[in-house]
Amino acid sequence: MTARTHDLAAITGLFCVLFFLPSLPQVTLGTAIACLLANQLGGIAPDIDQPTAPFWRNLPVGGFFGKIITKMLGGHRFLTHSIIGVVLLGWLAKLLLVFIHPLFPRLDTGYIWWAFIIGVFSHLIMDSFTREGVPWLLPIPIKFGFPPIRKLRIVTGKKMENFVVFPGIIVFNLAFCALYYQELLALLHSHII
Ligand SMILES: [Zn+2]
Repeated sequence: MTARTHDLAAITGLFCVLFFLPSLPQVTLGTAIACLLANQLGGIAPDIDQPTAPFWRNLPVGGFFGKIITKMLGGHRFLTHSIIGVVLLGWLAKLLLVFIHPLFPRLDTGYIWWAFIIGVFSHLIMDSFTREGVPWLLPIPIKFGFPPIRKLRIVTGKKMENFVVFPGIIVFNLAFCALYYQELLALLHSHII
């Protein structure tokens, strides 16, 4: 999937998880914003194994580092697209949050970390719908996908993704907001302090 579909899926995943939690904690506006940012980063983080990923494209000499990191991670759709990769990315995110927490002591890093992980999981789920599939269970070298018949899956960046999947997720979000408008308003009023 393309980066924009991953970002949209990541935020959709975050809202779904939040909405269906039995009870919601109160968080500061700063934490809420940091959660959104972390979630978006998580949504594209597994693609650091691709030298053409937006993350590398936006960094000076990013293409060069991207190629090295890709080799270290075993190539595209390998380590970072597995459960072990989620653990690894989660561990790196935790390290980074421990490092930046003293600079922003009022941020609740626990929630920020979870928002990141939800983004990462949404990435793997979305990539599972594509032709290439995802090696969820590495080191078992099998790529899983849905539907199981490879030909029925989506080709990244092509018509099905651009004209069905991406708009479909937008429609899902709009329908979700329309259906639960009052609940969403109450959530914004009472849980962000
Ligand atoms: Zn990917």
